Amino acid sequence: MKKIIILGSTGSIGKQTLEIIKKDKNKFKILLLSTDKNIKLLSKQIKTFKVKNIVVTNKEKYKVLKKRLKKIRIFPDFKKMDKKLIAKADYAMSAISGVEGLRPTIDIIKKTKRIAIANKESLICGWSLIQKELKKHKTEFIPVDSEHFSIWSVIKDYKKSDIEKVILTASGGPFLNKKIKKNVSLRDAISHPNWSMGKKISIDSATMMNKIFEIIEAKKIFDIGLNKFEILIHPKSYVHAIVKLKNGLIKIVAHDTDMKIPISNSIYLGDNNQNFVKSKKINMNILNSLNFQKAKIKKFPVIKILNKITIKESLFDTVLVSINDELVNLFLENKIKFLDITSKLSYLINSPIFLKFKHQKPKNLAQIEKLNEFVRLKTRTLSVKSHKK
Ligand code: NDP
Ligand code: MG
Repeated sequence: MKKIIILGSTGSIGKQTLEIIKKDKNKFKILLLSTDKNIKLLSKQIKTFKVKNIVVTNKEKYKVLKKRLKKIRIFPDFKKMDKKLIAKADYAMSAISGVEGLRPTIDIIKKTKRIAIANKESLICGWSLIQKELKKHKTEFIPVDSEHFSIWSVIKDYKKSDIEKVILTASGGPFLNKKIKKNVSLRDAISHPNWSMGKKISIDSATMMNKIFEIIEAKKIFDIGLNKFEILIHPKSYVHAIVKLKNGLIKIVAHDTDMKIPISNSIYLGDNNQNFVKSKKINMNILNSLNFQKAKIKKFPVIKILNKITIKESLFDTVLVSINDELVNLFLENKIKFLDITSKLSYLINSPIFLKFKHQKPKNLAQIEKLNEFVRLKTRTLSVKSHKK
């Protein structure tokens, strides 16, 4: 039986991972699940999968569940998990959203033979720390963001020097062919045309910030120069990545808009009894109308941020993630407008208090977490104040 850990099992990626496992229940044993607040869903998951160890990070919800479930080991965080409690897992899915996923991801690397990471914020802010742990514990890493899984599936068989260009596709989100009105509602902003995802990543897709993050993520995990990447709008999201190799081959990777495809591949990779998600027939209609377009800066001004990214890893990546995280939160709380996310982000990243981090390398986890807190607080104060005027 394959032993499984899922960080963020109550989220969109976490739930899809459990759906795959449920269809092939006899082959898996869940060692650990986690949530922040959603103890209602977590309780159901515990029952369905007979889980014995869980982490609930929200303090109130932790206390509630601790009282309610006596026979289950409940931890308030990943650090407090007794090292002896769980055996080494075969597979862990890191699917907590935001920078908060970084510490749990690092903690869990030592507890698993393979880790699939969906949590892009932790890859962007802490890749060098994650990489160090992966090497130390000989843990295999598979990226499961669909574009990154597609790129990975091609380039794992090539040398870095064989790669000429890597294109990441972007659907363009809900506003590609619509005028972005001043009073965009939350519902409109999270209505992604092709994917059903958590709120945060859906908003990032609508502003195109998700693609900026994905380029930084790809640059880091594949160690490829920023100048080799390009974004192309592809409204149907059938093709996820295009890799042009120096030998003249162009590899185009396509699959249905279903995150279960990269997730199940990351689970079953290398197994004799692979039980992948059933995919649909090749969609010739979509293949005949791929409709790639250049991304327009006027529509998606965040693209300009690519010019601000440092070539070497720096704490500025954390600054970028944290400012955006907080601005998206403020939008979700109805404290700023949708268009403010991009305008405030572009303004704030040029502020001297943040620019100085371009010259600092991430040294440790505590430093990244402290910076995240500082940037979020500053962003909130500066944004809400300027918005009220
Ligand atoms: P969701 O918001 O749907 O789920 C996030 C999960 O993390 C939930 O289980 C949530 O618990 C938990 N969580 C949230 N905050 C904390 C915290 N502070 N501490 C501990 N746990 C926390 O997100 P998604 O599943 O959409 O995305 C997860 C990650 O995967 C993100 O980084 C996203 O960018 C990435 N990703 C997602 C894709 C998708 O299709 N959804 C595609 C590619 C990448 P609770 O339920 O209590 O809130
Ligand atoms: Mg993606």
